[in-house]
Amino acid sequence: MTQVEKARLLKLLYQYRAMGFEYFKEYKPVDSSNTLLPNDFDSLESSVSSCHLCNLSKTRKNVVFGEGNRNAKLMFIGEGPRAGEDESGRVFVGRAGDIVTNIIEKVLGLKREEIYIANILKCRTPENRVPTMEEASACKPYLMQQIEMIKPQIIVALGSTSFHHLTGEYDTHISKVRGEVLTLGSAKLIPTFCPYFLLRNPSSKKEVLQDMLKVKSLL
Ligand code: SF4
Repeated sequence: MTQVEKARLLKLLYQYRAMGFEYFKEYKPVDSSNTLLPNDFDSLESSVSSCHLCNLSKTRKNVVFGEGNRNAKLMFIGEGPRAGEDESGRVFVGRAGDIVTNIIEKVLGLKREEIYIANILKCRTPENRVPTMEEASACKPYLMQQIEMIKPQIIVALGSTSFHHLTGEYDTHISKVRGEVLTLGSAKLIPTFCPYFLLRNPSSKKEVLQDMLKVKSLL
């Protein structure tokens, strides 16, 4: 079963649970041609905008779907929306957004709209806490569908939450893998520090610069 098929199955199970089902006596494999999520961006965005699969739907102001070039070679994937993103419905705004834009424009030599930026979670967590496994698992199929449609060559995981949920390697600290060129499906995956971490730890910008120069060399 591919990652996308697993994500679709997980999404289906969350939908059943939202309807009140607690268990199945028997699991019959889902026909992968029977798509459970829309296969076009606008329909997917519309589905996500009315999603209530987890409790974050009760506290969000806006769903933050993601934005950028739907044919991008490069994707940035962060953890989830913070206050500014929740307010505006856009990914990486404010000071963290400035860091992301500077990386894209000044280090990679690209325009922000040339890449695609999304998050593991589409809705903000209260107090910006780390998402629970349940929340991330409920939301991840949307992201996997975005990745499936964009088919990026390179994915940059911004921070440990992004890396953990993209790879399933929950015990690996981001500092141990940042800058490594890993694989996620057909894409190269390069983890680095999260922009919010850089706001608190500006001295780590030099490591991120090294990682982004590696990304640039692979584009
Ligand atoms: S975080 Fe994801 S799964 Fe949860 S309500 Fe928002 S869109 Fe749905």
